Amino acid sequence: MISASQPKRNFYDLTLPDIRAWCDLHDLESYRAEQIFAWQKKGLTEFAQFSNLSKEIRSRLSADFEPIPLEIKAKIKSKLDDTVKYLLSLRDGNMIEAVLMQYRYGNAVCISSQVGCRMQCKFCASGGLGLVRNLTAGEMLAQVALINRLCGNKVSHVTIMGIGEPFDNYHNLVEFLKRLRDPQGLQISLRRVTVSTCGIIDKMIKFIDENLPITLSVSLHAPNQSLRKNLMPTAEKYPFTKLIDAGERYARQSGRRITYEYALFAGINDSKDQALELAAALQGKLCHVNLIAANAVPGLDYRPTSRAGRMSFKQVLEENKIKVTLRRELGTDIAAACGQLRRSHENAGKSALCSYEPQGS
Ligand code: SF4
Repeated sequence: MISASQPKRNFYDLTLPDIRAWCDLHDLESYRAEQIFAWQKKGLTEFAQFSNLSKEIRSRLSADFEPIPLEIKAKIKSKLDDTVKYLLSLRDGNMIEAVLMQYRYGNAVCISSQVGCRMQCKFCASGGLGLVRNLTAGEMLAQVALINRLCGNKVSHVTIMGIGEPFDNYHNLVEFLKRLRDPQGLQISLRRVTVSTCGIIDKMIKFIDENLPITLSVSLHAPNQSLRKNLMPTAEKYPFTKLIDAGERYARQSGRRITYEYALFAGINDSKDQALELAAALQGKLCHVNLIAANAVPGLDYRPTSRAGRMSFKQVLEENKIKVTLRRELGTDIAAACGQLRRSHENAGKSALCSYEPQGS
């Protein structure tokens, strides 16, 4: 039960039953709960903007809750395409990022799931800063609602590929996904949602039972265990072969093809032999490979493979009957790769996102 004496909660963390309980407490008519809840999808920053509520109700809401848990600290628009990257400040002062990308089929927003990340992938701007905390379901939802409002309610796709490992924040992730598709909320079809994991095998298997029809995307980035272990320390606990087995089990049981993300780094994982090794590992699997032009991260010693190199790698996979796409580069001039904006903000003494193209239609 929510009482007026409790510290202010984030409005976006409230479920409809929470709001009903609050309405009861304040002797408000029952229809008010739906009316208040409906504002969660609007991404507004002040209760004063909730125009169908009386001044009295708005001021009570304001006394008990924070209207939105985010504030835009910086907004950078690409000069090359319509990608917009947002640096967002949370109520506790922590920073996260979200990116709006425009595709032929609609607008996609890529959101963060944690403040920082503990997976320590060697090529990632977020890994080196460590995990600060998980985001709540409401903090994830608010990123979508806010950016949806800013782009004129045109967000059709959501990717959870920003800062953080979503399966390391499993409970809140599942709650967020269920709320994302809520017909009384943003009502975004989960068929237009992509969740990206670095390969937390037990959570991938557990997620099958959630029966949520998202696209699961696994960051692979290497064709074998020894190289993957060097690039992604988490491979020590979740070895390459077991990960591919888990991906196959996920795909067969869920009936949804899995996507393997493979960022190409010059001289590290982009040779013809490595393409052949990758093709052999994925032969006959219900999967799709998404090749990524890696972003160069200042201070990290990883360089992107040339366009010709990316095309050659792709060709080897195609010749070996692996379904593969080369992701279109977006926002390259604004460092639209995971954690880079937050990292530069941290490095500047004040306190990075994704260029991933979502799957689905
Ligand atoms: S790539 Fe993803 S999982 Fe790896 S450190 Fe960065 S945010 Fe974490």
